[in-house]
This record gives sequence, structure tokens and C-alpha cells, in this order.
Amino acid sequence: MNQQNVTETVSQSNSVLTSLEQFKSWAKENGFIYPSSEIYGGFAAVYDYGHYGILLKNNIQRLWEKSMVQEREDVYLLDSGIFMHPKTWVASGHVGGFEDVLVEDKKTHKRFRADHLVEEWFEKHGKSVDMDKKTAAELSELIKANNIKSPDGNELTEPRSFNLLVKSNMGTTDASFNNENVTYLRGETCQGIYLEYKNFRDTLRPKLPFGIAQVGKAFRNEIVARQFIFRTREFEQMEMQYFHNPKDKEKLFDMWKNERMNWLVNVLGISSENLRFKKHEKLVFYATAAFDIEYNFKTLGGFKELEGIHDRGDYDLTQHSKFSGEKLDYFDQESGERFTPHIMETSVGLNRLLMMVLEEGWVVEEIVNAKGEKDKRIVLKIKPELSPIKIAILPLSRKIELQTKAKEVLNILKGTYQTQYDETASIGKRYRRQDEIGTPYCLTVDFDSLTDNSVTVRDRDTMKQERIEISQLKDYFKLKL
Ligand code: ATP
Repeated sequence: MNQQNVTETVSQSNSVLTSLEQFKSWAKENGFIYPSSEIYGGFAAVYDYGHYGILLKNNIQRLWEKSMVQEREDVYLLDSGIFMHPKTWVASGHVGGFEDVLVEDKKTHKRFRADHLVEEWFEKHGKSVDMDKKTAAELSELIKANNIKSPDGNELTEPRSFNLLVKSNMGTTDASFNNENVTYLRGETCQGIYLEYKNFRDTLRPKLPFGIAQVGKAFRNEIVARQFIFRTREFEQMEMQYFHNPKDKEKLFDMWKNERMNWLVNVLGISSENLRFKKHEKLVFYATAAFDIEYNFKTLGGFKELEGIHDRGDYDLTQHSKFSGEKLDYFDQESGERFTPHIMETSVGLNRLLMMVLEEGWVVEEIVNAKGEKDKRIVLKIKPELSPIKIAILPLSRKIELQTKAKEVLNILKGTYQTQYDETASIGKRYRRQDEIGTPYCLTVDFDSLTDNSVTVRDRDTMKQERIEISQLKDYFKLKL
């Protein structure tokens, strides 16, 4: 008898992740994300990514590059240094103005972002308040007028501004910036793009509009460290800066808003009800128009920023030109115009995308298992393109003949797909494990495989099984994946 022919069925599917604590421990137990430096008691607001976390993150990054670079003809890639000339951050305005407003609980000395406390208070009291870019003085007034306390019910200190740049020291001997060799870890990746605008223009000679895209780490001395990988002190950004003639601004702004929203829905498979645009009413100093795309993070209590689409005007190139003394303009051969290009940016946190994908895909289902019993499974219903493991290869038992056959199958597939070989525990447990990390296909090698040269392929979502000849597997998965 073919021991795999009894299939499982879903009877109910409804649960979603709602608590951040549950999310954190699930992500750790399943090898996606670990809190940093745990053996030393932890290190706040830093997380390490495990095997499945990295595979998933790489898949998101690859899909971003595919749509932002590969499928376009006007966007180029860059990988600039994390360290840049310290003047970069003076020119960009970060040394003077990259600040959050902080308050401290007078008793416990815990620190909070003042805007977050005020916003939470207003939400709790069913009132609305516009929290866009409030100054320390404005926040102080709101705290006093409403008698807002810390989450532990204690008095708060006067709000004060806190610079977010992470300072470092380097053996630089550059006399033009003589401030005890202070340097900064980059607070955003896009500054590296502005510094390379001239080299791209001189070497690749692109015509406007064109973009430069970069994925990399950014560092911020974030005050609050309570939101898992949503807000960390070290994170990855995927930013694209689109250099253009300001006369095309409106058309291009709409284009990028649509492109980015469509990517989230069609490529990452996020349901459109969980996404929305939010217009910035009050703009930061460099922006002339700005929208965020927000995702409904259930574990964070609602819609929160995922990506920014900003029209930064000519601020960045003008500033860097002023501080460096280099001409960073553009000569349009057709019109004979010379001008400083304006910049439109799309800026998204890779870690926030990863958090969204996990939240969106995480489901608990009540099922009837292969033995006909009621059971439960957690299944990560994400698009197969995103799945860390595409195919799991499972010999039904540890019999040497089955292991040998399963390894044969593994060798056929592992060069093309990220596969996993697993022979531990019962087949039911191994299915649960693969469901939980989002593996779209499990492939079981049983005793019949030894004679019919076929395997059972199980689909993650439907749990339906079909028998496929080993010689047909490559073609089968070419269609499926
Ligand atoms: P927030 O208002 O949440 O602090 P921001 O407006 O400062 O974010 P930007 O400077 O526009 O964010 O950065 C672009 C993107 O980088 C954000 O939309 C977010 O996805 C990501 N990002 C920013 N700060 C962090 C952080 N501390 N941890 C993880 N991702 C971040």
C-alpha cells in the first residue's frame, strides 16, 4: 500500500498573530530571528537573522532589485560605504537636525519617544491629533495640557531633542574636518547615492530621468526599543533615488506611488486592505512632497510606516555641491538647459518588509490529519517566490534504501532550488515543520518509490498529494515554481 495516500484536510482557518511577544518567540523557535547577544543577556534593539530569516530576506531583496533595476532600463545599482566623509552628514542636515524628542520616566528612568506617548494617549482617549514632526516645545505643551504620564503612571521629564546619528571614531587625518576624528555610521543609505551622482553621470552617462538603487545597512540611535524588528538601531534599507527634471515631477510622483504599491500587492502578495497611503501634511526640511505607504501591523496595534515616497527637490545635490565645491548639475543637450536635478526617492526598510510578510502569511488552521484525527497546524502562507525553502525532501523512514533514494532526488533538485533534506521525527511532524516555515512543496520518498521511481508531492496550502515520477520532477517544479 502507498503509505502517503491518506491526505490531510483543512476544517477551519482563522487565527492571526496579534501579540508581539508571541511573534518574537515564534520567529526565534522557527529559526527566523534571534535577539542579539542572548548569551550575554541580550542587546537592546538589535536582532540576528537565522537561516530561514536570511533566505526570506534575500528573496525580498532580490524581488525588489528585479522590479526596481532588472525590469527597468533607467535604474542602476550601487553599494557605497557605510562610512562616508563626515561632512556628508553636515551637508545633509543630519548633524544639525536628525532628531527625535525624548522624555524620561522620573521614577524608573525609562526613556520614551515623546511623540509616541502623546499619540498613544490621544488614541486611548478616542481623540485625534496630527503628530507629524512635532517640536520638543509643542510636545511639551501637549504633555502638560493633557497631564500625560509614562506607561508606568509616573511623571515625565521635560522633552528634549536627541540626535539619531551613531557616532564613531576613525583614524582619519583629514584636516578639513578636524573634530577629534569623529565619523558617523550612515543614518540612511541614500547619502551614498548623492555622493556618487557625479561618478554615475560621468561614467555611465545616463540621461534624465534615471535612478540609482542601493540596499544596505543604516544605523540610528533610536530611543525606543520595543517594537521587535520594526524599529531597530541597525537595519537595512532599500532605497532608490530618481534624478529628474522638476517639470516632470507630478507625473513621476504618481508613477512611483503606483509602482511601489503594486509591487507590495502583486509581487509580495500583500492584501490591499492591509496597505494604505498616508500623506505627510507637515514636511521635513528637505522634502517638497511626501507620502508613506503604511501596513496594518496587527502586532503593533495598527497602520504603521513601511515605506516613504518623497520628493526631495534639489535639496541634496545643492547641499553636497555647496559643501564639496563640486558641480552637481546636469546639462540637457536637447533643450540647452543646465540645472540641478531634483530627486524623488522610494525608501523602504527590508526588515519591516520581512516583519510584514511573516505577519501577513502566518495562519493557524484546524485540520484533520493523515490519521483522521483533529489537529492544528501553523502555516506560513507566503508566495512560493518568498519561501525560504522551496522543496523539502523527506524519506518516509530512516531505512538506508529510502535515504539513498531521497538523496538521489535531493541531488537532482538542489542545484536549482533551495531544498532541505529532513529524516528526523514522524512524517506528520516534518510536514508541520515545513508548513510553519512556509515550504510550498514536501516531497516524500516511500517504499513504493524504490520500485515505481516516483515520489509523493504534497502542496502546502491544499495539503493535496500527487504521485510524480522522479524523472519528471524538474519539469513539474519548473511549472509550479
Ligand atoms: P519612522 O517614522 O518609523 O521613524 P522614518 O520616517 O524616520 O521612520 P525614513 O527615514 O523615511 O523613516 O526611512 C525609510 C524607511 O526605512 C522607513 O520607511 C522604514 O521602513 C525604514 N526604517 C527607518 N528607521 C528604521 C528603524 N529604526 N528600524 C527599521 N527600519 C527603519
